[in-house]
Amino acid sequence: MITENLITWQSRLPTWQQALQNAVRDPQELFALLELPPDLLQDTVWENPRFHLRVPRSYVARMQKGDIHDPLLRQVLPLQAEQLPFANFTTDPVGDNAASKGAGLLHKYQGRVLIIVTAACAIHCRYCFRQHYDYRENNSSELQAIYNYIQSDNSIHEVILSGGDPLSVKDSRLMELINLLATIPHLQRLRIHSRLPIVLPERVTPELIAALTQTRLQTIMVVHANHAAELDNSVTQALRKLADAGITLFNQAVLLRGVNADVESLVQLHERLFEQRVVPYYLHLLDKVQGAGHFEVSETEALSLIEAMRERLSGYLVPRLVREVAGLGYKLPVF
Ligand code: SF4
Repeated sequence: MITENLITWQSRLPTWQQALQNAVRDPQELFALLELPPDLLQDTVWENPRFHLRVPRSYVARMQKGDIHDPLLRQVLPLQAEQLPFANFTTDPVGDNAASKGAGLLHKYQGRVLIIVTAACAIHCRYCFRQHYDYRENNSSELQAIYNYIQSDNSIHEVILSGGDPLSVKDSRLMELINLLATIPHLQRLRIHSRLPIVLPERVTPELIAALTQTRLQTIMVVHANHAAELDNSVTQALRKLADAGITLFNQAVLLRGVNADVESLVQLHERLFEQRVVPYYLHLLDKVQGAGHFEVSETEALSLIEAMRERLSGYLVPRLVREVAGLGYKLPVF
């Protein structure tokens, strides 16, 4: 009876919320879906990390079966290597705690504030710089406090919705927040940082597009794709819908060993993104977050990758290589 009720409740949810609920959370199930040998599981996988496995099924379907080195799988599979200590890797690598203004607001850069809309994500990326973030202490449940802070500072022209993933909340919550922000006269732009159009393209619904476009604020979306294999037809269609609705689209990627740290992967990714009218924006050096040391690519290697990209691509297809430095008022360009 309980199972029946659960199934009925789930079937009433929009497709994207059902997909969110049905994410793969068990490494054993992931291995079975990808037809990977179980002995590899014991040898390489960290089965119960605090930042647990979470990956949508449609994203799993884009992985190569039988390939433990698949670049999409590498981004989500918790490895035992995450438990190794690496010098200078911390739980707050980009200075979020120092920038916190309470109520889920971060104020790092002049003219812009960031709202941690939710702790929830559709996917748990193993290199995520907020994987240790204390969302219970810093959440955006007090909209009035957010409003008061932004309203009282005329220099703030842009609000960034982040998380977690801001598009993992329901449309009604998103609209409540956007409508509130739109009442602040000095705000001009709304920027949404989201990986959902890439990992759960079902999220790009007509209702979402209406919520993002029926506001006086200029809307910009920064998506997060790291590899061309992430961009299947469902993703390219979702990106086109957003672009057709007039939303300016940028991509930020993270340079990750074992995922995209080779020139061919980076060229394909940025060409394919631009085909969908997504402008290459940033290529981030890894934020030194505890648990992600095995993904690091040195600055020297990164620079030679950028140089090789420049030889292959038009200038506008080459993203800016940057590092986020805690306490600095901008992203530090590396070239
Ligand atoms: S989607 Fe973004 S916030 Fe969520 S785990 Fe991945 S990198 Fe972190």
